[in-house]
Amino acid sequence: MTVAAPLAPSPRPVLRERGQREVFCGLTGIVWLHRKMPDAFFLVVGSRTCAHLLQSAAGVMIFAEPRFATAIMEEKDLAGLADMNDELDAVVTRLLDRRPGIRTLFLVGSCPSEVIKLDLPRAAQRLQSQRTGIRILSYSGSGIETTFTEGEDACLAALARSAPWTPAGSEAALIPELLVAGALPDIVEDQFERLFADMGLPVRFFPGRSSTDLPAIGPHTRFLLAQPFLGETAAVFEDRGAVRIPAPFPFGAEGTTAWLQAAADLFGVDPLTFRRAIAPGRERAKRALERHRDQLAGKRIFFMPDSQLEVPLARFLATECDAELVEVGTPYLHARHLAPELALLGDDVVISEGQDVDRQLDRVRAARPDLTICGLGLANPLEAEGLSTKWAIELVFTPIHGFEQAGDLAELFSRPLRRRDLIRI
Ligand code: SF4
Repeated sequence: MTVAAPLAPSPRPVLRERGQREVFCGLTGIVWLHRKMPDAFFLVVGSRTCAHLLQSAAGVMIFAEPRFATAIMEEKDLAGLADMNDELDAVVTRLLDRRPGIRTLFLVGSCPSEVIKLDLPRAAQRLQSQRTGIRILSYSGSGIETTFTEGEDACLAALARSAPWTPAGSEAALIPELLVAGALPDIVEDQFERLFADMGLPVRFFPGRSSTDLPAIGPHTRFLLAQPFLGETAAVFEDRGAVRIPAPFPFGAEGTTAWLQAAADLFGVDPLTFRRAIAPGRERAKRALERHRDQLAGKRIFFMPDSQLEVPLARFLATECDAELVEVGTPYLHARHLAPELALLGDDVVISEGQDVDRQLDRVRAARPDLTICGLGLANPLEAEGLSTKWAIELVFTPIHGFEQAGDLAELFSRPLRRRDLIRI
């Protein structure tokens, strides 16, 4: 373990871990992205392992016409005995002929396609040149390059690169437009849209509900991140002159208020209009949290690195539920995007970046926290040792953003503690 030099702008020291990782790869993001963009199709160019991962991660949903599939690479492909590009073209042609409703096709790279250095961006360009009326993009979801939520980041960055551009100096570039970046469940998107409308603020969401309904991105764009793991997507936006609105993330009553307030302040919404717009939702969120605070107050919580949601969720638990944070691990700490969150965490909270699963498990065992948030593979062994756990993946699959979901978010943490208490009685 090494203690790094302080990260700007937070003066907090961060433990850097560079050991064995135990997290899902970026293919997992397809599970929620294909629901968000029903006119898109995700074609993983991978192995049977990749197909099994997708099937088991999305296994609870059975579609007559699934919107993802795996083009399985056989041994002869991996051995270089077949022309992978010819085979890929044939698979894509069959798919698009059979499914004319597909508007965006994502070719998704995997570990095997990376190992044989299959050039998917070039394949996407080649296939695109043969077709009109469809957008063909590529990104990597491989476990070599991405962990878990980084798959969404890579996908949205590819989509952002293909979005219309508003050139600097054009008339459209002079009218600021609010954009929320990050895949949100439709119900949450509707709630935020209503809140912004009550403040008199039109808003666009990225991605929207159709993969073809892309907002122009340029110097007029003022964007709020809805997810903390969108480093590459934000970089694409900023390269086009878009301006990020710094804010904590919209988890809990206070996080959601601060997130909305950051946009309201930038767009000059008057304080009374802002308070009127948010007051009912904020009150409902606070009341919903009260029910869980007794269970969570004073409880010692340990986050293993997994989804990159750890820092904002830890802030929510500490500042809104009075929980005590033992360690907050995250696979990657984007200091600039997380600066408002880090400023709200106590200086005594240990933050770790990266993974060294054995060392982190040693620290969990030494601290014996009341609750450990971790990946599926680590939960069972810890439970067997009498430690309560929460699967991090549930926090990604459940709607947790915004006022109306604040109580559900707290319950995700309080339920395992309640179960533990019941078992002990
Ligand atoms: Fe496994 Fe890599 Fe395929 Fe992910 S992309 S399922 S880590 S082989």
